[in-house]
Amino acid sequence: MGRGTGEIARGVIAVLAATCLGALPGPASAARAQGRPAAPRHTPAAGSARAAGAVYPEFRRADGTTNRWLSDQMPLKVYVSHGLAIDGFIDEQLGAPIANTSNVAAWPDLAASILSTPGQFKSLPVAQGYTEEQYAAAVQGISMWKPLEREGLFSYVLTSDPDADIYVFWVHHFVDRSGMALFAGDIRGYTSMTVFPYRQVMAGGKADFKPVVIMLRTTESNGVPMPAPKMRASAAHEFGHALGIANHSRNPVDLMSIYYGYGVVSPNDAATMRYLYHLVPDYIP
Ligand SMILES: [Zn+2]
Repeated sequence: MGRGTGEIARGVIAVLAATCLGALPGPASAARAQGRPAAPRHTPAAGSARAAGAVYPEFRRADGTTNRWLSDQMPLKVYVSHGLAIDGFIDEQLGAPIANTSNVAAWPDLAASILSTPGQFKSLPVAQGYTEEQYAAAVQGISMWKPLEREGLFSYVLTSDPDADIYVFWVHHFVDRSGMALFAGDIRGYTSMTVFPYRQVMAGGKADFKPVVIMLRTTESNGVPMPAPKMRASAAHEFGHALGIANHSRNPVDLMSIYYGYGVVSPNDAATMRYLYHLVPDYIP
């Protein structure tokens, strides 16, 4: 899918947030053993013992529609920045960063503006609290979806060229529109994407595609650096949103629950992503 400007009105905007509500609450419910069959299968590797997972309905957006990338957008280019922060751009009227959490839907526009302004991207500061260990953890997290790539669902590459589809930026802590720090719920990351109606794009309309923005937090509520295991899980979770899981599994064992599960792609997460990538989407990023 080319990236051009055109007439298609921008579609609904997906705004996704994950909050960490603490440790997993107790052992997994026996109910999840009910194992609905997974989505239609592609090409299971010979001899692979894939655990059966159940598709959870929360991959859909609140209105029941779906969004995912198309095969001709592959491989997705993922730019994980080395700590770059975009919260230094201040909304003069609010006196708060444009990249505030009441304004998540505007983040792709902000990123597009930064990327298209000569010199601006290169002069972005590094988020306070960021470490290269966190970068490594984020890359590991994003890479957790690679087994599904081998099934042919999607493909993605990390790039050092800041001409990408998905960007990872960093922030010391999130603030709302009044600039107040958000500590309630211990939010670790957000993903924001702008999506366009699939059928209109396929019918020849052009869309002004925007970068998908993932923002990861470098510190926990108490100000200590986000530890690598949590960072890995956050990045994996946010990348699951970037790939198209629009909401949160209600099953706490799943990576795409608000509890981050066990910090790895669960059989349910995998089954759900497989199912999503065999559907014709309503929207594409
Ligand atoms: Zn989330």
